[in-house]
Amino acid sequence: MTHFNFQDQHTCRATLKIIKPLLEKLRDVEYVQRTMITDLGVKSNERISLRNDKKNQVEDEYECEVCSANLYVSFLCDVKEDTYFCLEHAIEYLQKAKQQQKRACKLLFTHSKEEISSLIKIVNQRIQEPDDTSSDSSGLYLFRY
Ligand SMILES: [Zn+2]
Repeated sequence: MTHFNFQDQHTCRATLKIIKPLLEKLRDVEYVQRTMITDLGVKSNERISLRNDKKNQVEDEYECEVCSANLYVSFLCDVKEDTYFCLEHAIEYLQKAKQQQKRACKLLFTHSKEEISSLIKIVNQRIQEPDDTSSDSSGLYLFRY
């Protein structure tokens, strides 16, 4: 996933319109899957920051053990086995896991559900900003993309 700067005045509205449904889907999927993971017995979760680990290259990227997807928003870590899973495969893993294994698992996330929701709000506001007010330069920016 690319990191978008939503605060950037010049982010193209067309881009935002593409991002919006993706973010909404992400929010819904995250909500359902995180709830399922909690219901499956994972009680601990921890916020992590991927960006502050620049010096720590090895720790910088996480891949799903099953599908090798790069993990950014949230994922499961089996602390004991030192393995990582995307939410989808975390659910499969937990469904087969023993109670003891589940206790070693932790949900890691970079964005809370609330933060994803507030991103969507920002995107919505930006999309709904009138075209012709504010300034001419913002209009020009749209044509440059
Ligand atoms: Zn996976």
